[in-house]
Amino acid sequence: MSLNLLEIVEKADDIHHLIINGESKDPDSDLKYIAEKIKEIQSVVYQLANIYNSCKYITKNKNVPNILPSLDEWTRVSGKYNSPKLVSRESAPKMIVKSCDVDDIKDVPNTNLYFVRNIGQFALRINNVVFRGNVGDIFAHVFGAKKTAKLRQVTHCNNYSKCVRNGVLCNFYHDPLKLLVLSSKKFETQRRNFTNSSWLYAPTKEGCRSLGNGSSAHTDINLPQHDEQLFRDQCIHQLLLALSTPSSGS
Ligand SMILES: [Zn+2]
Repeated sequence: MSLNLLEIVEKADDIHHLIINGESKDPDSDLKYIAEKIKEIQSVVYQLANIYNSCKYITKNKNVPNILPSLDEWTRVSGKYNSPKLVSRESAPKMIVKSCDVDDIKDVPNTNLYFVRNIGQFALRINNVVFRGNVGDIFAHVFGAKKTAKLRQVTHCNNYSKCVRNGVLCNFYHDPLKLLVLSSKKFETQRRNFTNSSWLYAPTKEGCRSLGNGSSAHTDINLPQHDEQLFRDQCIHQLLLALSTPSSGS
């Protein structure tokens, strides 16, 4: 807003005075001006109410982590952070990611980690992409060797409905969100595990990581769906461990 509240009220008073005395040169435009200001002020009131409710919630629940008034946008009254624009930037050669520009590191808002009770997983949402999961275990795996019975939950199950029908889950990993959709029965949350070879960047080797090197990412990016899923599962595993270190305040 370019005018402060007092200036707006004074200008509205002037318009009122002119219209009462039949001296307004353009009453329609004057009325439009007042209507626009009403909308602007209403939006500020709405944002203030959001911030008030959020602050009140945080104050009354001291152990609850800070939350912003809205999941998807920064609703700050000052205008500095209103409607952040997503700008497409190159994250790696020929790779684009959207981000909001800020002037200084202190202007980056906090993003909380959440724990989703009904699926027993940690989650966070960035650019409307949800990362969720738990820390898994990493099994030693010999290159080229067939997966052994010891490797549990290292890939997603292909036959959820059969497992759900039997009430017994197989050795593969079962996404708790899918189980929740398929059955009202409560299954214990599993750990999404990995083979050690799946962390090694070797795009031509089966079972290894095919995305991970910046300069070739634009050609490596056409991942089969299961590899893309694996990449996200590994991201949340890694992130949870990084956030659990003492230097991260945990
Ligand atoms: Zn299964």
